[in-house]
Amino acid sequence: MTDGVTGMAAPEALDIEVPRVAGSGIDGLDPAPELDRSAHLQAVREGRVGSVHSWELVTAVDGPGSRMTLFLAGCPLRCLYCHNPDTLKMKDGEPVTVESVMKRVLRYRGIFKASKGGLTISGGEPMMQPAFLKNILREAKKHDIHTAIDTSGNLGHYMLDKDLADLDLVLLDVKSGIPETYRDLTGRELQPTIDFGDRLAKLGKEIWIRFVLVPGWTDAPENIDAVAKIITRWPNVSRLEVLPFHQMGRDKWETIGIPYRLDDVEPPSNEEADRVRQRFRDLGVSLVY
Ligand code: SF4
Repeated sequence: MTDGVTGMAAPEALDIEVPRVAGSGIDGLDPAPELDRSAHLQAVREGRVGSVHSWELVTAVDGPGSRMTLFLAGCPLRCLYCHNPDTLKMKDGEPVTVESVMKRVLRYRGIFKASKGGLTISGGEPMMQPAFLKNILREAKKHDIHTAIDTSGNLGHYMLDKDLADLDLVLLDVKSGIPETYRDLTGRELQPTIDFGDRLAKLGKEIWIRFVLVPGWTDAPENIDAVAKIITRWPNVSRLEVLPFHQMGRDKWETIGIPYRLDDVEPPSNEEADRVRQRFRDLGVSLVY
């Protein structure tokens, strides 16, 4: 079943690959109890159970303060530089309940409060499991916890405005400003990301942009200018992070047996990354890191 907008599976069909039976488990998160097939599907459709890859506690990345970052399994993109290719398939995650996630989140409430941090849901692509994502965000907001998602925006239309009300911050990856480059790099279209950013701008929802600088792929001056043109029309962007490409994900590609096409790409030099940051500033982006 496709949604007629992106040609992709509609939300209720996206998450049927959530595993029913726990595998080796995830430290610190209780596995979802094993249900029969129809009860499992019901729990998945209602977003009570989702497919989780892992979680970690981080500081000064993935949003302000100290954060618990929850990595959901599954992503519709296939970025050539993905450094978490083991999160791409939903069926490779572990079944976990919203309660189990919240139990872990609430243990860190004191740390979040002291550091002005919170919960970030990443992936994979968090909106690949929209019902599960919405339930976690709603529960976190009930406990007054700062919430963020790290997303490409490709599935932004699965989040209604009322769902976005439970989000404080969107870490939005703008992978290229040129549609052809975006398609070559990710296998998907750029426009849904722009549409999602436009909606967030209308709602006044805070955005941090992330842009990965990949020599030979995203570093062309015309691409930098195109990215700047997109993000400067969003007054709700409070920060841009230029993330230099690195080769730390290469071994994971080998492990999961997917051909890796960036073997010969060298990370950009510090000078090159700084040059690009300065170009963004010159084009009117205010806070660039
Ligand atoms: S959007 Fe993120 S998780 Fe998905 S393929 Fe790209 S880099 Fe990997």
